[in-house]
Amino acid sequence: MYVVCADHLEQAIDEFVDVYETPPDLYELGSVSLTDWSAPSHCTFCERAPKYLVV
Ligand SMILES: [Zn+2]
Repeated sequence: MYVVCADHLEQAIDEFVDVYETPPDLYELGSVSLTDWSAPSHCTFCERAPKYLVV
């Protein structure tokens, strides 16, 4: 699972496909409500606020 900013969305998808050999599902943070999970405060690849969830 990756939580990424807009700039790193493509990189997260590439890595996901490399690892899992299947395309990920993308969710825009804020458009989904996850009761037992709170989003990390920064992108997986940088210190910016995350915008997308790649799972
Ligand atoms: Zn980033």
